[in-house]
Amino acid sequence: MQRRQFLRGSAALLSTAGASRALAVDTPAVVGPAAASLQSDDLPLAPIRASADRIIEMNVCTRPFRAQGPRIELERIGRRQVVHNYGHGGSGWSLSWGSGLLATQMAQSTGAQRIAIVGCGAIGLTTALVAQQAGLSVTIYASERPPYVRSQFATGSWTPDSRICTAEFAAPFAERWEAMARYSFRRYQALLGVAGDPVEWRDMYSLSERAPGTPSPHGESTEPEYPDFEDALLADLTPRAVDLSAHAHPFPTPYVRRRPALVFNIASYSRLLLEEFERAGGRIETLTLRERSDFAAIDERTIVNCTGYGARALLNDDTIIPVRGQTCKLIPQPEVHYGLNYGDRRVSVYPRRDGLLVQAQAEGDFNNDKENLDPQESITAVERLAQIVHEMKLKG
Ligand SMILES: Cc1cc2nc3c(=O)[nH]c(=O)nc-3n(C[C@H](O)[C@H](O)[C@H](O)COP(=O)(O)OP(=O)(O)OC[C@H]3O[C@@H](n4cnc5c(N)ncnc54)[C@H](O)[C@@H]3O)c2cc1C
Repeated sequence: MQRRQFLRGSAALLSTAGASRALAVDTPAVVGPAAASLQSDDLPLAPIRASADRIIEMNVCTRPFRAQGPRIELERIGRRQVVHNYGHGGSGWSLSWGSGLLATQMAQSTGAQRIAIVGCGAIGLTTALVAQQAGLSVTIYASERPPYVRSQFATGSWTPDSRICTAEFAAPFAERWEAMARYSFRRYQALLGVAGDPVEWRDMYSLSERAPGTPSPHGESTEPEYPDFEDALLADLTPRAVDLSAHAHPFPTPYVRRRPALVFNIASYSRLLLEEFERAGGRIETLTLRERSDFAAIDERTIVNCTGYGARALLNDDTIIPVRGQTCKLIPQPEVHYGLNYGDRRVSVYPRRDGLLVQAQAEGDFNNDKENLDPQESITAVERLAQIVHEMKLKG
């Protein structure tokens, strides 16, 4: 399929999908001054305690974005067969299982029974588990392991088409993307209800002052155009969004859309991945590769390279573009079962078990490799969130 055709097709799908996938709900809210919790539709919403003095952690790191999508291909380096599996932008957790499956199939095509994986983040760990399940013996080599890998600092939600490629490369990548997303989605459903709640479905509310489709008041984005793969290709897979009428929710905006979202509780989830890997006989060794020829230092002849943003320096690969992201965590509130995203005010919050994850959406993150924290950025995001909570209470 030609790119234009794909984009036209997906745009058509999007415009109809956008309308048909959102159901209108017009149920009176049951709220009053004495209500212990705010209500959305018929659901109680515990107030978020948003204040800067409840911040327990701030993190910043770079997403490994590639315009053409992640690099998943086999390359011979000296006497080693190296399967690259890096460059997953803002979708690494979401696509990890499917990406691991592709990489494992490539590793199997070399005939190896014993493989090495370089990298112990979201991609390395899931690839290792898929490879073990395929009967391979796996050793992971990595500079860092959880909780000290970049993956640990992600928002932690199902965002399979977030900064995964540019619109220009959508057509050649679409089929592979869909296969990875569908396989990953299935794997995530199999983790529901598992002890420690590594994965959960939670309601996310999108708040807007503008009707859907109205341009942002913040003007043109400085980022490239990204394809909307999820709405175009996975409409049958994920639950539908619901548009709530003004009196059916406690939020201070005229337009509110509720959609169930898959949330990854990264602390318990990455621990589970590590434990499963080790229980199946996997070993992890600390090792840093400085340059391409260092792959020769690894015993195994077939190696899967899951070094994420680290691949940029290791392979001198400037197709990897850093996209900075800063988050902070507020003290966990187990009673908060929902999250919200208010694009006009550039803030979102996710109801993670290991802390309410607050993300500031900043301009200038694209092609920004600064991994130094800007504490004021997170404090401002929490203050914006506090203002939203305040306005919710006033409305209630
Ligand atoms: C703010 C933010 C929010 C995000 N939110 C989401 C989200 O909600 N959902 C989602 O799906 N994705 C999200 N992402 C994207 C996701 O976090 C990444 O795509 C993912 O972490 C990439 O994983 P990785 O395993 O490739 O890289 P990493 O986690 O960076 O792991 C790389 C591994 O390789 C090792 N390594 C690197 N270089 C070398 C070397 N030279 N020698 C030896 N070892 C090496 C490292 O030590 C590490 O073990 C987000 C990213 C950011 C920054």
